[in-house]
Amino acid sequence: MSQKKQMEEYMKQVEAFVEEVKKSTGLPIVPDQRTGAALWFDQRELSIRYTISVERIRKFFEGLAEGKVYATKCKHCGATYFPPQADCPKCRRGDMEWIEITGEGELLTYTIIYTKPASFAHYPDYTVGIARFPQGVNVLAWVRETDPKKLRVGMKVRLEVVRRQPENYLTYELVPVDEQG
Ligand SMILES: [Zn+2]
Repeated sequence: MSQKKQMEEYMKQVEAFVEEVKKSTGLPIVPDQRTGAALWFDQRELSIRYTISVERIRKFFEGLAEGKVYATKCKHCGATYFPPQADCPKCRRGDMEWIEITGEGELLTYTIIYTKPASFAHYPDYTVGIARFPQGVNVLAWVRETDPKKLRVGMKVRLEVVRRQPENYLTYELVPVDEQG
């Protein structure tokens, strides 16, 4: 079954369940399957598929295809930006250079996501973190660690380009640096 079909099947089941609950309680509030937290299931369907121009940050996407993650740096004031910005908001100039985010970053904070938005419901529980890299940028990304108990604030992480499944598109993740290796 295609991923789209799977999502449609899943949403049909959820909708049928919400209808049952609504009949007895009068409200479209259902427990999250995993945590039991109360979830409001909106009664209007909102479908969003957007296209935005990425022409001025094209280099960023070309970088992903080469396994690199790029930030931008203002040639005028030296400020660095991630996600990359084509213009510097500080000096309002478009004179930017591309810098690769490399080396070891420091994990500043992280959180494990158990209750997911509908468009992320098909993923297993995942961890989102923010890391500070030597180039002076903070990167928000999923953290690759099957056992979140091993994570700690201040640990070293590196950035790695990955193909997110099942959508099969390029993105990047924070990967803890194996201190033994
Ligand atoms: Zn600037």
